[in-house]
Amino acid sequence: MRITKVETQLLRVPLQQRTITDSQSTVTHVEFLQVVLQTDAGITGYGMNWSYTPGLVAAQVMVQQNYAPLLVGKDPAMRKAIVKDMFFSNHFIGRVGAARVGIAAVEYALWDLVCREANKPLWKYLGACRDTVKAYSTDGGWLSWSLDDLLRDCHRLIERGFDAVKIKLGRPDPREDLRRIAAVRKSIGDKIDIMTDVNCAWTLATSKQYGSRLHDYDVRWLEEPMKPEDVTMHAELARAIETPIAVGETIFTREAFRDYIAAGAVHYVQADSTKLLGIDEWLEVAALAASYNLPVIPHTNVQHKLHVQLAAATPNCIMVESCYESINEMWEEPIYVTNGFYNLPQEPGVGLRIQDAYLKAHRIS
Ligand SMILES: [Mg+2]
Repeated sequence: MRITKVETQLLRVPLQQRTITDSQSTVTHVEFLQVVLQTDAGITGYGMNWSYTPGLVAAQVMVQQNYAPLLVGKDPAMRKAIVKDMFFSNHFIGRVGAARVGIAAVEYALWDLVCREANKPLWKYLGACRDTVKAYSTDGGWLSWSLDDLLRDCHRLIERGFDAVKIKLGRPDPREDLRRIAAVRKSIGDKIDIMTDVNCAWTLATSKQYGSRLHDYDVRWLEEPMKPEDVTMHAELARAIETPIAVGETIFTREAFRDYIAAGAVHYVQADSTKLLGIDEWLEVAALAASYNLPVIPHTNVQHKLHVQLAAATPNCIMVESCYESINEMWEEPIYVTNGFYNLPQEPGVGLRIQDAYLKAHRIS
């Protein structure tokens, strides 16, 4: 099988729900880059990447100008060599960021081709350790929710079968964060897991002072308290407070994960394949975490269909985030959370093909 043609489509999709806010962003749209690889075998491979800030067109240009010439004529089974070539083709203009985002989108399409050729969904192609995957929900804990809305949404999610919910922190006054967590814990009782997420808004002093109080409410983890570049400060915090630390959604390389893990600065590894070089690098990070007896719980919003399959094939990947559920309808074969568990896709491939009608409605370039 040889690749004959590379196509890209860029979509801008409005979120079909109330405006949602965390400590850094107000999210109204999600952009998607779809990569389509045609082959001489008549098999087509689909990959995608995403951003909720504008500018994914930079990754589209990377795919069209830098990567497409490296792909045409190649055998997709040579995926690791192709990814290495793509990575070094932009050595001086983006070892992370848009260049890497574009590589991951292509990497998924390369995986999609070999899985479709084998007529297996990704999780079965990889070799599975489970056939259903536990979910936790981030869809009810946004910073922009009033306390009443926050409590209502937590109960709505629990009634749907979730037994773990994540609440955003990072309000201007951290004491208000604590009051919201205290109110949620009192309202939902002690049988439901509460996770918290600061989205990098706190200093070390704030993280120590208020992070230490989360233990009073039996919070399962404190996520991204500080900016991700600072491993040393996370290690100091991890030594200072009892609540475990979760990081990963803004960590872009396996080497950065190695540094966090070796420093004891992370307890829940939230590696996101779409921020790494794709599936292969994610599997490397998950194996590294396993060697330190650390669980992986991938950061996920729109890419849950991918991470659910990786979780099914990775023993230490114990749970997957559920977020932006309304956007699920974009996939050719949507998957859903029922009673707190994801079902797994059965179609051959990686499963990231966007429906044609969706593409037509939201394409911007
Ligand atoms: Mg997060």
